[in-house]
Amino acid sequence: MLVLDGKIAAAAVKESLKIKTAQLAAEGKRKPHLAAILVGNNGASETYVASKVKNCEETGFASTLIRLADTIDEASLLSTIHELNTNPSIDGILVQLPLPKQISEQKVIEAIDPLKDVDGFHPINVGKLVQGLSTFIPATPYGIMLMLEHYQIETKGKHAIVIGRSNIVGRPMSILLSSNLKQGNCTVTICHSHTPNLKELCLQADIIVAALGRPGFVTADMVKPGAVIIDVGITRVDDSTAKKGFRIKGDVAYEEVAAKASAITPVPGGVGLMTIAGLLKNTMQAYEQRAHSL
Ligand code: NAP
Repeated sequence: MLVLDGKIAAAAVKESLKIKTAQLAAEGKRKPHLAAILVGNNGASETYVASKVKNCEETGFASTLIRLADTIDEASLLSTIHELNTNPSIDGILVQLPLPKQISEQKVIEAIDPLKDVDGFHPINVGKLVQGLSTFIPATPYGIMLMLEHYQIETKGKHAIVIGRSNIVGRPMSILLSSNLKQGNCTVTICHSHTPNLKELCLQADIIVAALGRPGFVTADMVKPGAVIIDVGITRVDDSTAKKGFRIKGDVAYEEVAAKASAITPVPGGVGLMTIAGLLKNTMQAYEQRAHSL
């Protein structure tokens, strides 16, 4: 059984980006620059954004973190995005989700310049993804594709089950795995909360991507021997024995499923780290595209 280690695969991606960034510096060029907007003080969002900023620094990118109060109104947030859209020194913009209730996430997503949309959530970029055109791939599915590539997991002709149909994970994942790509060409079944025969479907799967946010949902009795298991889930589960009072749990019952799988991602230490690798790749792509068009 192969552990698909996010630390190793993400380090490989970061190393190649570091080399590119060092080359840019040697040529006297500026660094790729990511701007992240964090609204409010949600604990998980704080952790994700801090990690994104830290990873930018480690890769040699510039980063700007804009913190806004959770009472901010929609117009003010849209105006901050507009400033970043028109700021020539910014290559990529991300707004950490979720946002407070008074703000429409859809409006925010659509306000970001598609050429700086390094999260790949803008409808223009999603449309390009569906049509197989060059675009920003949403960071988590992108990270999973990079993980499959790093570990040379054969996907062609395999049956992949994606559990979850969100715009940020499940749906783009299903599109990528079904696309004519090196780590694609799967026959994909996408499942959601109205799928009645999930266990039966999972038992037919060569690859399972679990992205539903239900800790330990995928159990050994749902998995075909030798399947590849990608666990996207990140849920904080209360645990008084843990330092922080909680533990991070994935959507897969790791120990029992690992005993049956041919390859599996751990949580933590799997897809989460690859998500950041995907974001960094998108930021470099935004920089390079803008550098060509300026
Ligand atoms: P989401 O928007 O809540 O979507 C969850 C999806 O799972 C929905 O499509 C839902 O179906 C489906 N679902 C829920 N219960 C189900 C069940 N019992 N059987 C089958 N399908 C079920 O979540 P998300 O944003 O995609 O995130 C999913 C998980 O991934 C969360 O734990 C999140 O924290 C984690 N995540 C991790 C990363 C990372 O970097 N590792 C990145 C993003 C998200 P319906 O559509 O029918 O409601």
